[in-house]
Amino acid sequence: MLKPLFGTTTQPVILTSSGTGAMEAVVVNLTDPGDHVMVIVAGKFGERWKKINQVYGNQVTSVDVSLGRAPTIDQIKDAFRICPKPRAFFFQAHETSTGVWMNVREIAALVRALAPDTLIVADAISAMGAHAIDMDVNALDAVTAGSQKGFGVAPGLAFVALSDRAWKSRTPRARFYFDLEKERIGQELGRTAWTPGVSLIQSLHAALRQISDIGVNRFIEHHGRLARACRAAVKELGLELFVEQRAVSNVLTAIKVPEVLDGTRILATAKSRYGAIISGGQDELKGKIIRFSHLGFVSPFMLIEGLAALEFALADAGHHFPLGCGVTAAMTELRSAGRQ
Ligand SMILES: *Cc1c(COP(=O)(O)O)cnc(C)c1O
Repeated sequence: MLKPLFGTTTQPVILTSSGTGAMEAVVVNLTDPGDHVMVIVAGKFGERWKKINQVYGNQVTSVDVSLGRAPTIDQIKDAFRICPKPRAFFFQAHETSTGVWMNVREIAALVRALAPDTLIVADAISAMGAHAIDMDVNALDAVTAGSQKGFGVAPGLAFVALSDRAWKSRTPRARFYFDLEKERIGQELGRTAWTPGVSLIQSLHAALRQISDIGVNRFIEHHGRLARACRAAVKELGLELFVEQRAVSNVLTAIKVPEVLDGTRILATAKSRYGAIISGGQDELKGKIIRFSHLGFVSPFMLIEGLAALEFALADAGHHFPLGCGVTAAMTELRSAGRQ
């Protein structure tokens, strides 16, 4: 039931770990110490690919992208001039720290054309369910996902799918808990190598049944609709998107906090006075952006509730706008989308 979300016919492996475990599993199964790898670093999760690779002794060429942007074709081409044949290319389908969706199809096709032997690895941990990953069509070699994002399940499970050629080109590097071949053989027989998170797997089953009843494409389109409604609200509230137009995501909407306002305080007010938990930015983006999530079984009604709380908190902070205008714009967008 996971396969359609990955867009693959190969069998994803289920790991009992948080999403980062799946990232580490890919690195330790597909690379050897000293390997050259390329990493897109467009935020915290790109940094994580870089750190994991460095910890395991790989030589990393990073493509550093400004926050709020997706890598351009030229940036990737330039990096391949410095490092023409990396063992693997790592990126995020969706960089959660900035709300940037990367065009997986375009990036995968480019890397394939520039370096046919390079393994292409996409972290789809937050993208899965909200965007089409199309692993097989895009010829991705490894894709990671996790239970607590689009599946709406508690944290604690991670998923990895490998292409046939990735399975065949596993490296001899030492590894133990995250030996994917051991898991694959066991899971084909309905077993796991280590004690599985049974309760989580049962919740996952329930979530996957719901997604499969809705249909994967409709589930993704539902996220698209919520995201369009959220962006309509942002515009009407006189705020700007943090992310460049071509990279806006269905996962969350990243909003710039006007310089005269304190983003951290707005979100604290949304929580304490209005009961809505809305994320801000991390590190250098702290107080500067709002990350409004619409992932993980969010209904149109929940979106409206969250937007109303955000409006109250913005008004309390002294931002001027006709109260309710964002909610109205979102409702209008949801209604027109619903009738199509
Ligand atoms: C959440 C997330 C992860 C994994 O984080 P964990 O805390 O280990 O589950 C990795 N990449 C992205 C893009 C994420 O959103």
